[in-house]
This record gives sequence, C-alpha cells and structure tokens, in this order.
Amino acid sequence: MANITFTMIKPDAVAKGHIGDILKDITDAGFTIKAAKMTQLAKQDAEAFYAIHAERPFFKDLVEFMTSGPIVAAVLEKDNAVADFRTLIGATNPAEAAEGTIRAKYAESIDANAVHGSDSDENAAIEAAFHFAAKEIF
Ligand code: ADP
Ligand code: MG
Repeated sequence: MANITFTMIKPDAVAKGHIGDILKDITDAGFTIKAAKMTQLAKQDAEAFYAIHAERPFFKDLVEFMTSGPIVAAVLEKDNAVADFRTLIGATNPAEAAEGTIRAKYAESIDANAVHGSDSDENAAIEAAFHFAAKEIF
C-alpha cells in the first residue's frame, strides 16, 4: 500500500475547531480520504499506538494528551502518500515547521502539534488497521 498513509487530527486541533480547515488542506494537496471517523483514544489505545515511544521521556505526557479529547482518524491515498503527507504537515516541532504546513498553521507546541502522519508504508498499514476494519476503508 505504497500510496496510503494514516493521519490523526489531534485533540488540540479538534478542540480549536480546525477539523474542516485541516481536511481541506489535505484534499487540496491531492489526497483522497479513504476512511475517516471521530473517536477518542482510551489510555491503552494510545499506549499501544505509540508503543515505539514507550521509553521516551515524553511518553506519559503524549498518552495523556492524545486521550484528552476527541480526535479524527483518517486513511489517505495519493502517490507517494507517506513522504508527501510528512511534507504537508511539517516538522514535529511547529517552531521548525515550514511556512504553510499544517503544523505551522495550526499546532501550538511540540506535543500539541495538531496532526499525526505515518512515518513509513509499513507503519501506515499497521496504523490504518489499528483504527479501521478493512470494510471501513473505501
Ligand atoms: P512525528 O509525529 O512528527 O512523527 P515523533 O514520532 O517523533 O514525531 O513523536 C510522536 C509525537 O510525540 C509527536 O508528534 C509529538 O506529539 C510527541 N513528541 C515528540 N517529541 C516530543 C518532545 N520532545 N516533547 C514532547 N512531545 C514530543
Ligand atoms: Mg512519528
């Protein structure tokens, strides 16, 4: 699935009313929405999703933040989806994100940084399957 990536609009951006703005930026950039839903992660969901970061000093804060309110999860399709989406969202730290990127426009801080984007084709498939059944991806 080299043309698929997975994203979450994080609790900060949902709370600030940016679901529509961010989905518009995503579709304007040429991505097709293959699946989408609003949901809220339980603690164990967030711990499992971010298990790769379990030993990092920010892990507890990350889990707390990601469970603090609703998110929008989505599967996106485009040629070169993973890399192009990482370009569209900008650097993890919004202070370093290029002008016009989603994080530059909507993120507050390195932890409340508006959106998630998969970092590899393999993780995109794992993350999409974490949130959606096959029949929910169109
Ligand atoms: P990205 O989301 O850009 O792939 P990472 O995978 O490195 O970034 O980290 C996952 C998430 O953990 C980040 O999006 C951010 O919300 C949080 N995070 C990363 N680094 C830090 C940090 N130094 N301090 C606080 N939160 C962080
Ligand atoms: Mg990452």
